[in-house]
Amino acid sequence: MGIAVYPDSASTPHALIQMADVAMYRAKTDGRGIYRIYSPEMGANMRRYHYLLDEMRLAIDSGNFFLTFQPVINVDGCHINYFEALVRWQHPVEGTITPDEFIPIAENSNLILELGDWILDEACRQMAAWYNAGMKSARISVNISAVQLKYKALSEWVLTSLQKTALPPTSLMLEITESCFIDAPDEAIRELEKLRQAGVIVAIDDFGTGFSSLAVLGNLPVDVLKIDKLFVSEAMNNKKYNKILHSIVDMAKQLELKVVAEGIEHVEQFELLKSLGVKYIQGYLISRPQRSSVVGEKIFDQGYSGLAQTGTSTWLPQTSRLTSGRILQSKAAS
Ligand code: C2E
Ligand code: CA
Ligand code: CA
Repeated sequence: MGIAVYPDSASTPHALIQMADVAMYRAKTDGRGIYRIYSPEMGANMRRYHYLLDEMRLAIDSGNFFLTFQPVINVDGCHINYFEALVRWQHPVEGTITPDEFIPIAENSNLILELGDWILDEACRQMAAWYNAGMKSARISVNISAVQLKYKALSEWVLTSLQKTALPPTSLMLEITESCFIDAPDEAIRELEKLRQAGVIVAIDDFGTGFSSLAVLGNLPVDVLKIDKLFVSEAMNNKKYNKILHSIVDMAKQLELKVVAEGIEHVEQFELLKSLGVKYIQGYLISRPQRSSVVGEKIFDQGYSGLAQTGTSTWLPQTSRLTSGRILQSKAAS
């Protein structure tokens, strides 16, 4: 429900209704079963929303999006396990707009369907190029939103993109947040299962923030559990979060799920997760998301012989010599 109050919110009946609408829109985006009272800041947000929505329609047509790639590495040896594809919007006036701002708008307006087609094709196309150059055992991971789960015939959509780009299904992973899984239609779950049978792997993203029951988790078609960065950042100085982190890792092991921890920014976090038995990590300590050209330079500069042998290359944390020295020491000690 949205509420506007005379005369604070507006002074004419028509404007009052419009402002109540703005407040209602805000209530809808904030959650279910709640109300919001109009404030001028909401009006500014609303104008920004409509501006970005109009601009996004143009941007999709003129190809103003690009993908960045963030490596996820194995804590033992720092080999790249996969790259997460993260979309960016290169706006002619605003500069780079981050997905936290435009993905919710794209989802609300269903523009994510069109944008998501491009993201999947582009991610597979890029990975196919790296695959052909020797990256045979690393994967590309693509984020899928609730709207796509609801409206796309998932298996046909994904397999067509793989065929078009000549990327093997075993080189692809899909990331779906825990909260999307909770609302996903049964059909989408069956479609994901089909994709898994074809070799695509599925990750449950932002785990720990969606309040899914553990009973549900046992039945989901997933191979990988990505622990939300909140647990990583809180675990260092909050005992309760530390214990929750322990339990999530233990539970994942029981369910034979591969665990990935995201948001690793400090050496201490790296060491904590390693001591808990987490094998795969992602975060600014290793690398921020990078453009494909930077990734290409990084992996192919190490030469092609290692790549040919292992099907992947290493990505050492980009920190000062002191901190990377500490990581290598702890690696040598373990
Ligand atoms: P996400 O899927 O949870 O992606 C991880 C986000 O954490 C990324 O933000 C990444 O840059 C950021 N991150 C990585 N390491 C660290 C770290 O050490 N510290 C901190 N503080 N952050 C870190 P980004 O790229 O801004 O994306 C934000 C969200 O937007 C993503 O969260 C995802 O939900 C959505 N998104 C991004 N790209 C896509 C896409 O292609 N499709 C869809 N549907 N959603 C996307
Ligand atoms: Ca993700
Ligand atoms: Ca996440």
